[in-house]
Amino acid sequence: MNGQNIIEIQNLTKRYGSITAVDNLNLSISKGEIFGLLGPNGAGKTTTILMLMGLSEPTSGSISVAGLNPTREPIKVKRIVGYMPDSIGFYGDMTGRENLYYTAKLNRIPEERQDDLIDSLLAKVGLKDAADRKVREYSRGMRQRLGVADVLLKDPEVVFLDEPTLGLDPEGTAELLDIITELGKKEGKTVLISSHLLHQVQAICDRVGIFVKGKLVAAGTISELAQKIGGERAIEIKA
Ligand code: ATP
Repeated sequence: MNGQNIIEIQNLTKRYGSITAVDNLNLSISKGEIFGLLGPNGAGKTTTILMLMGLSEPTSGSISVAGLNPTREPIKVKRIVGYMPDSIGFYGDMTGRENLYYTAKLNRIPEERQDDLIDSLLAKVGLKDAADRKVREYSRGMRQRLGVADVLLKDPEVVFLDEPTLGLDPEGTAELLDIITELGKKEGKTVLISSHLLHQVQAICDRVGIFVKGKLVAAGTISELAQKIGGERAIEIKA
């Protein structure tokens, strides 16, 4: 592993029968970077994240996450990686706070640390006042923010967020993106965020990769991509 790169992906391919979900992907991501995985439905974003977490085995190629091989060392990878799937399941009849205590218990966070940690995470995601309301009363934006708090409980080095802004209104999106920006810029966490809407996430991403039918067709900063492809509007259409 290059000292700077926390994620190294080489010649990574995943096939499901005749479908090539990820096609010879090569990508390096630096520590502390916010990287956007952009692409339409079925482009291979979720499959890539699942392989990075050791939840899906590559057909070929290699992956290193903080020097670990996710296929061979999934438990070690799980310790340093937080994953928010595109549909998060919370217990609707429990409050936001109770849901976090439940996850804290699952993650074996020592009891004496739980109160302060959960209070600070609820404040960080703007749910301090709603902490004792049942999750079934939460808006989608509030649930997504609770999802981020849930992922942060184990203080992961790397955070994978699968379509976190899906279905959020502009205000909900902005609130969530502010929190995600803080994770990368202030806390030095490496964040991979997938989306099919470039305009929603481009402002917070250091670099983005555009996936189409399993292939990474371009990667770079927004201005690099705009130069390569011929204007930001062109990127918008491709993504
Ligand atoms: P979305 O935004 O819809 O989640 P995505 O970019 O995350 O899309 P993937 O979910 O990774 O895309 O899917 C990539 C391709 O792999 C699609 O053609 C999908 O149908 C296929 N695929 C994903 N998982 C499986 C599976 N378990 N079995 C068979 N095919 C799969």
